[in-house]
Amino acid sequence: MYDTIIVGAGPTGSYIAHRLASLGHKVVVFEEHERIGEPVQCTGIVGAECLEHFPLFDGTVLGEVSSARLFSPSRKEIRLWRESVQAYIVDRAAFDRSLAEKAQEQGAHYLPGSRVKDIALLNDRVMVETDGQETCEAKTAVIASGFDSRIPQKLGLGRVGDLVIGAQAEVSIDGHSELEVYFDHGVAPGFFAWFVPTVPKRALVGLFSRRKPGRHLRMLLATLFQQGRIASPEAKITYRGIPLKPLPKTYRERVIVVGDAAGQVKPTTGGGVYYGLLCAEMATDTLQQALATDTFSEKLFSGYQEAWQEKIGWELRIGYFARCLYERLTDRQIDYLFHLTASKGIHESLLQSPDLSFDWHGKAILKGLKYLGP
Ligand SMILES: Cc1cc2nc3c(=O)[nH]c(=O)nc-3n(C[C@H](O)[C@H](O)[C@H](O)COP(=O)(O)OP(=O)(O)OC[C@H]3O[C@@H](n4cnc5c(N)ncnc54)[C@H](O)[C@@H]3O)c2cc1C
Repeated sequence: MYDTIIVGAGPTGSYIAHRLASLGHKVVVFEEHERIGEPVQCTGIVGAECLEHFPLFDGTVLGEVSSARLFSPSRKEIRLWRESVQAYIVDRAAFDRSLAEKAQEQGAHYLPGSRVKDIALLNDRVMVETDGQETCEAKTAVIASGFDSRIPQKLGLGRVGDLVIGAQAEVSIDGHSELEVYFDHGVAPGFFAWFVPTVPKRALVGLFSRRKPGRHLRMLLATLFQQGRIASPEAKITYRGIPLKPLPKTYRERVIVVGDAAGQVKPTTGGGVYYGLLCAEMATDTLQQALATDTFSEKLFSGYQEAWQEKIGWELRIGYFARCLYERLTDRQIDYLFHLTASKGIHESLLQSPDLSFDWHGKAILKGLKYLGP
């Protein structure tokens, strides 16, 4: 019998596989896709703090980000710039593959092309069944199966509270330009759109929207093409959901839910790699404690939820609050906020303050609200 079954070979699943296997545990990872890391449904922007905390990205970084141009609906621009690198653009497919290889080098067993269909929690073990009717047993299980996984629901843990759909396409560009973000309900209703140069002559263009993300992205691609920014308006669009609120409960006896499956994503930007890895780290600590002491009680596993809520719970709540406020703004109000920010130099003050961080937005949100107050 395995010590741990992991469902999903994304960053969170493979990180836990790597850590547990290197501690000598017997781990098996089920991944529904034949090729780990594909299809890519991520822009791959990861904050500098994430790379410092997790030295796992060797050979997968495509570029550095130290500035961004933000545009309002009427094309008012605010440029954010810091001398030091704020974030990196990572090749997500290569990163997922490299993390899975690291886990396999430590002895984790990977089963690509195996979709977990069902999971049963028995008195003394966990059992999963794959689409191919095969079964596998372990002392513990990790659900790291990403957005829209039905497995937490099957385990009685409910569903994530709110979500948005992300749509993205890779395009050809002429020359190099900066990362751009468009705040405009006509372009990305309620959310934002992005243009992210990745490698020479290539960029990722995408947006989040609750309604018709494909239609909005095709309109954005057509506009960028008319402006001569991209070589063609035709591009393959990929879609994926983003949880905006976490699962109310992310554990049971013997089971942990982590990453997008648990809704551990920044509600402000939809970024989930860093928070997912942080939670995967806390999940590993709980699993290690359970396996080392042969204790699989719900009480022990609840320690995982307490730990991640302490680390990111406040950020998720305030981020969601700010997200809901932003969704209610009209385009005119967004323009006014840009005007106010630029004229009062709010962005300059925030840039000089440690409160503005790529990964932690709560303090900057509170400070911004104070600046904008009467
Ligand atoms: C358009 C878009 C852009 C994004 N850009 C960024 C960004 O720039 N930076 C950032 O930090 N985040 C970004 N994100 C979010 C980021 O991609 C996720 O937060 C991150 O991938 C979550 O990692 P995970 O390991 O939890 O899940 P995933 O990466 O989704 O991995 C889950 C894995 O489980 C597998 N799986 C699912 N069900 C089963 C099953 N039943 N059996 C077996 N295997 C299964 C899936 O195939 C998948 O490989 C973006 C998301 C979208 C949609």
